[in-house]
Amino acid sequence: MNNEEAKKILSSTMEKFIGLAATHLPDDVLAKLEECRAKETNEMQKTLYDAYFTNLELAKKLNRPCCQDTGLMHFYMTVGAKFPYIGVIEEALSDAVRKATFSVPLRQNTVNYFDERNTGDNVGERIPWFHWEIEPDRDDLEVIAYFAGGGCCLPGNAKVFKPSDGYASIVKAVFDTVSDLGINACPPLIVGVGLGTNMENAAVLSKKAYLRPLGTHHRHPKAAALEDALKDGLNKMGIGAQGMRGNIAAMEVHIESSGRHTADIAVGVNVACYAHRRGVIRFNSDLSYEIPTYKDAEEYMKNSKSTEEN
Ligand code: SF4
Repeated sequence: MNNEEAKKILSSTMEKFIGLAATHLPDDVLAKLEECRAKETNEMQKTLYDAYFTNLELAKKLNRPCCQDTGLMHFYMTVGAKFPYIGVIEEALSDAVRKATFSVPLRQNTVNYFDERNTGDNVGERIPWFHWEIEPDRDDLEVIAYFAGGGCCLPGNAKVFKPSDGYASIVKAVFDTVSDLGINACPPLIVGVGLGTNMENAAVLSKKAYLRPLGTHHRHPKAAALEDALKDGLNKMGIGAQGMRGNIAAMEVHIESSGRHTADIAVGVNVACYAHRRGVIRFNSDLSYEIPTYKDAEEYMKNSKSTEEN
């Protein structure tokens, strides 16, 4: 297969996949929302969760996005150095976003800073946003598609502390972020915490943290214990779904970390909303693919058509 053919297949598959990820929540998020609902005791909270689930059912049935804010597309890519079509991926995925904007449809959200004009097709300056990780001995491609909505991006924060502030500064940063603007992100939240040595790598790690499958823990037992302690603490704040007073503010807290300079403690905090549209698709080198995040993915992909196929 030459690059042009590969680009068409990638674009067409990704356009349909964006449709799937906009209209469905991943299985692990749905299961976690069920768990959260069961822990709520007051009538307002139960009504809100019922509204969430009705909305999600209708989105599936009507094949419409499950939130009006379909965000900006972010792609987290893990690509094998031997994947044969590396050179056409960005072009193919941008084309998929452009087409999905009209076929799904996605809300036209992208504005370039210095033109102050909506681009109209969700492709703009460095948007879709690509984050790359290269795996030396592999020939496949994993794409995590994430819909970065306005409300859930708003609370995000990254700060560098002095060592004398201690590791307590990590806890303070998480609680300040969630208590300040967390309710703008439609709780219950997934809180990603990145610990690094400057604000850039802490911020990147915080994003990587909330893209992890729910229920997984940091590999270090102390970090895993901190994840649980932060979640328990946040859930004692009485925030609840939509900030309307309940037992669950955070579905999960996930931490990712890197080494740090002895002189810095850098903390990034990123939150994701209840409509956590994070879908994973894995392409083999022949562009066959699997989608592990939704149980009905195969059926959806079989029954939907890309712009090219229509
Ligand atoms: S925070 Fe999430 S659920 Fe709420 S409006 Fe934004 S994208 Fe939608």
